[in-house]
Amino acid sequence: MIKLKSVEDISLMRENALMVSKTLAEVGRHIEPGVTTKELDAVAEKFIRSLGAEPGFLGYDGFPYTLCISVNDTVVHGFPSEYKLREGDIVSVDCGTKYRGFYGDSAYTFPVGKLSEEDAALLEATKTSLYRGIGQAVAGHRTGDIGHAVQSYVENLGYSVVRELVGHGIGHNMHESPEVPNYGRQGHGVKLQEGMVICIEPMVNAGRKEIYLADNGWGIQTVDGRKSAHFELTVAIHKDAPEVLSTFEFIENNQL
Ligand code: MG
Ligand code: MG
Repeated sequence: MIKLKSVEDISLMRENALMVSKTLAEVGRHIEPGVTTKELDAVAEKFIRSLGAEPGFLGYDGFPYTLCISVNDTVVHGFPSEYKLREGDIVSVDCGTKYRGFYGDSAYTFPVGKLSEEDAALLEATKTSLYRGIGQAVAGHRTGDIGHAVQSYVENLGYSVVRELVGHGIGHNMHESPEVPNYGRQGHGVKLQEGMVICIEPMVNAGRKEIYLADNGWGIQTVDGRKSAHFELTVAIHKDAPEVLSTFEFIENNQL
């Protein structure tokens, strides 16, 4: 069942989305070679609590950390660990908050130091595909229009789209209906309605689309060992234009 949100709901969700956006920027300021991903997790937890919110992922379905931190060939759901980031790594940081009964959820893939041209291009393409998807997020369109926009953009560049994990509705629950796949056919899927709030989150692999589950039961890895990028924003559906509730501005303009 799809739970539509009122104007008041969306305004609380906007607060959540901004908290997540600011937390990602705070984490980003700590990303450099030598930092462990567990240290980044601690930065995020402290920052979220300082805003008066709670980490949305901690304990969710038994997930044991504040952040999902997924380095290089880990697609999503990586555990923070003692791993020290290295120059040239790409690190997806996925963050959730819970505040006044609603969830926030967004993700950004950061470069560690200077990237190879190839890896920088993967990040750029994945982020652009997210904005292409968001461009389709208006009432009357369908989830397949979003998926098609993402998929066609990245596949034209020679990348592949993970099928097993998808975007989602969000609200009082982290994951609500509908599912928002990053692949699909135009004019197919669930029809978008005013009042829906969804997370669009392309997971784009440099090589093949196949993935497997890591031994810890959470981490999702690429089968071919090549890198994967992930960007996620939360979008409210309206009649005329998408309203993007979370933002990468704090990260990219280095502001807080
Ligand atoms: Mg999500
Ligand atoms: Mg997320």
